[in-house]
Amino acid sequence: MMKNKLFELKNVTKVFKNSIIAIDDLSIEINSGVTVIIGPSGSGKSTVLRLLNLLEKPTSGQVLYNNEDITSKDFNLSNHRMKVTMVFQNFNLFPHLTVLENLNIAQIDVLKKTRIDAINTSMQYLDRVGLTDKAYSYPNQLSGGQKQRIAIARALCMNPDVILFDEPTSALDPEMIKEVLLVMRELANDGMTMIIVTHEMNFAKSFADEILVIDEGRLVERGSSNDIFNNPKNERTKRFLDNIT
Ligand code: ADP
Ligand code: MG
Repeated sequence: MMKNKLFELKNVTKVFKNSIIAIDDLSIEINSGVTVIIGPSGSGKSTVLRLLNLLEKPTSGQVLYNNEDITSKDFNLSNHRMKVTMVFQNFNLFPHLTVLENLNIAQIDVLKKTRIDAINTSMQYLDRVGLTDKAYSYPNQLSGGQKQRIAIARALCMNPDVILFDEPTSALDPEMIKEVLLVMRELANDGMTMIIVTHEMNFAKSFADEILVIDEGRLVERGSSNDIFNNPKNERTKRFLDNIT
């Protein structure tokens, strides 16, 4: 499959109010396909993801999506957030809404679909993640793995171009990690563009078109899974991989 450039960070720095430099003059391109971001805790992985849909604004530098500067005043940010949707570590489902309503709500409020259209789409993606029988359950009646599959279905309901995943399996018990990774595998096989922060190195090995290694807010190394896992060039990549395996 031809990969084309989707995102470009140009000399992006992010300094938080406590004067921590989370991202330090980072310039990277991210292509379509599956990109996995790895690196030590606190290295800036979540901040990179959050810059891509402007949940965090860069302190300086530019974030381009399809060559458009997403930080510019006339950029349509709400449209962008529909196209570039996010799945969080802790699911972020609305506890007071049923699963079906969790899936419907943004389709009705943001995409301005009719209720019937929204329900049709929701049921289609509930089926895709194997949870049609949970449509009328509430989030607290679901396992962690099921909640995350619902969160993925909710993202899919927006018909996104890109899904950002921030450690989607980190809050899950080992036996539930599999079911979530299985859904993600299917999406990867279907050609969905995904940018994934994860510590699941087996997933990264088999599914990443490209791996970015981040440390201290900078790009340490990037490459195919073969480059990174079998032939890492940078000492910090080696040290990171030694520490987690
Ligand atoms: P990672 O996801 O790789 O663990 P983060 O992107 O969450 O790293 O964080 C990078 C650095 O920025 C860390 O030092 C973290 O403590 C800091 N940081 C992240 N978010 C905030 C915030 N909202 N306010 C202050 N500091 C933050
Ligand atoms: Mg993080």
